[in-house]
Amino acid sequence: MSGILYLVPSPIGNLQEVSPRVKEVLNSVDFVACEDTRNTSHLLSLLNINKKCISCHEHNEASASSNIIDQINEGKNVAYLSDAGYPCISDPGYILTKKAIEKDIKVVPLSGPNAFLNALVGSGIDTSHFLFYGFLDSKTSSREKELESLIDFPFTLIFYEAPHRINETLASMYKVLGNRKVTIARELTKKFEEFIRSDLKTLVEEKHDYIGELVIVVEKASLEKEDKDYILEVKKLIDSGYSTKDAINIVSILFRVNKNKLKKELM
Ligand code: SAM
Repeated sequence: MSGILYLVPSPIGNLQEVSPRVKEVLNSVDFVACEDTRNTSHLLSLLNINKKCISCHEHNEASASSNIIDQINEGKNVAYLSDAGYPCISDPGYILTKKAIEKDIKVVPLSGPNAFLNALVGSGIDTSHFLFYGFLDSKTSSREKELESLIDFPFTLIFYEAPHRINETLASMYKVLGNRKVTIARELTKKFEEFIRSDLKTLVEEKHDYIGELVIVVEKASLEKEDKDYILEVKKLIDSGYSTKDAINIVSILFRVNKNKLKKELM
């Protein structure tokens, strides 16, 4: 009979957030697979757990996961951990999980720490519906294209970002999404945990020096937009001599509305 693949969350800062169940599973498995064997061995030694760790990270996940799956098929139970928070959330683990499911292996995710949920619930921004986006592209043009696809998204948006890129990212957000409420959640669960609750315009003007790990929570698209007749604006520009294509481009940039939606409505 094949074994079990446990997906085990690890602390995002505060070591007290390792649950009794996580410790029990780590003690019981035959071996641990992880993103970084040094980090996970360190965590295991703090928990007084002595287990063999094998590496399965972003760059070797495809090959390493086949070996892990073979061992589970031989009956071994395995815990998979990334460096922080949940595996598979902006971290490796998805390929391994998918392969395990394809082989009918039982997958058991344990509950535990995760940065974006802490950020969302502490943000003060609508929690009823949300999109976790993860990291945006580091290149400005690609990042702004990604943000354009989210302009009309009617739910709270959550992003991960590195401190050295956050000012550029906030500037792109302000440029593409317009002014919206934003919360930066910093150093969650750690000594210097902080929630900066503001709006994009203010943060772009103030240009803070952000240190540590960060999550950005952005308010959803404003419904007020729907009150405006954008097609009328496009038609006015066409009447004054602009081509249809240019008129659509101008209105989409000016009012931050989706170009394709304008095109469709104009048809
Ligand atoms: N798997 C993790 C999870 O479940 O949250 C995310 C890993 S991702 C590689 C790392 C990013 O998560 C960081 O760049 C930051 O955006 C966010 N993050 C992780 N720990 C954090 C913390 N303590 N405070 C704020 N953000 C954190």
